[in-house]
Amino acid sequence: MLNRTELREIASMDGKGYCVSLYLNVDPMFNKKGDHLVHFKNMMKNTVDSLDKAIYKKIKNDLEKIDNYVLTNKRLFKKGLALLSSSENSFWKEYHLGVPVRNELIIDKNPHTKPLIDIMDTYPRYAVLLVDKESARIFVIHLGEIVEYGEVYTPDIPGKHKKGGWFALAQNHYERHIDYHIGLHLKDVIEKLDSFLSGEYIGRLIIGGSDETVSMVKGMLHKTVLDKVISTVKIEKFAKNDGVLRKVEPIVSAYEKKKEKETVEDLIARSMKNENAVLGLDNVIHALQEQRVMKLIVLKDYKDSGYSCRSCGFLTAQNVDSCPYCKGEIEAVDYIIDLATEKAIQQSAFVEVVSDEKKLRDAGAIGAFLRF
Ligand SMILES: [Zn+2]
Repeated sequence: MLNRTELREIASMDGKGYCVSLYLNVDPMFNKKGDHLVHFKNMMKNTVDSLDKAIYKKIKNDLEKIDNYVLTNKRLFKKGLALLSSSENSFWKEYHLGVPVRNELIIDKNPHTKPLIDIMDTYPRYAVLLVDKESARIFVIHLGEIVEYGEVYTPDIPGKHKKGGWFALAQNHYERHIDYHIGLHLKDVIEKLDSFLSGEYIGRLIIGGSDETVSMVKGMLHKTVLDKVISTVKIEKFAKNDGVLRKVEPIVSAYEKKKEKETVEDLIARSMKNENAVLGLDNVIHALQEQRVMKLIVLKDYKDSGYSCRSCGFLTAQNVDSCPYCKGEIEAVDYIIDLATEKAIQQSAFVEVVSDEKKLRDAGAIGAFLRF
């Protein structure tokens, strides 16, 4: 899973040589006939053709490695694929992404990580702290996946075993001793959590554990961290990753549903005021043609028909005789939303699919926030 710490390390890699970065849209929705392989082959060919011979010699191994990977690992593909390779630096990274990416093949002195950073900025990540009185685990959820990041364990907490035979006073003292240890442990947990959240720029936190521990932790959190807590939940401390994910999924989806609603309301309000936002297929396609789309908002399962230029890919909702850009032949298409979405991704715009929102349906089922 993507994380800031790793990307920072990659970005600060003191490379001696060249690095090849491949981004490929492998989303099955856009690649019904294996089109991604065609795009990939074309990019490879164009890159090699235009490359300086001396540089080509240095990255030949990387290109071969990438070529081999793309051709043989289809079963691992999700929606986006990122491969970063530098044989000269013995460096290789592969990312299978839950969102499609713009096709790019970049050869540079440094790995190209901006699309990965953008994905982390755009699609929210959630931290889950699973805590009890002597241990704690931290998970991150991003695009429907979960990864465990770390464990905090304070082993020196005395057990409550010698209960009988103690005087009341001693018992009290003993209880306080335990409380003291638990307090130290939770303080330690909170410090580690705090630095993890700020290092990773994660703004949403779910706390899991017993009611008692959860409320103790909440009582000890700094205001800045407390503001990030979107919910708390009862989770068993040895829960496996998918068990944790199942528990927090309803919380995440309710939270995202609320955010979607706000996005749609913002989109509608801004487009009414003509503030860099548009609604409806016609306007969206027009904005795409002008490369102005920053974020496309589309209702799930929305389908529509339109027209597309066979040679340059120009899209329009209106029937025209020939392409106004290249005079190419126009064909009717019944999947214009897929084509518009693909165009948006290719322009480095983000795409948010909204599950079911009456207001968006009434406003034309599609809209976009614009760059300018
Ligand atoms: Zn055309």
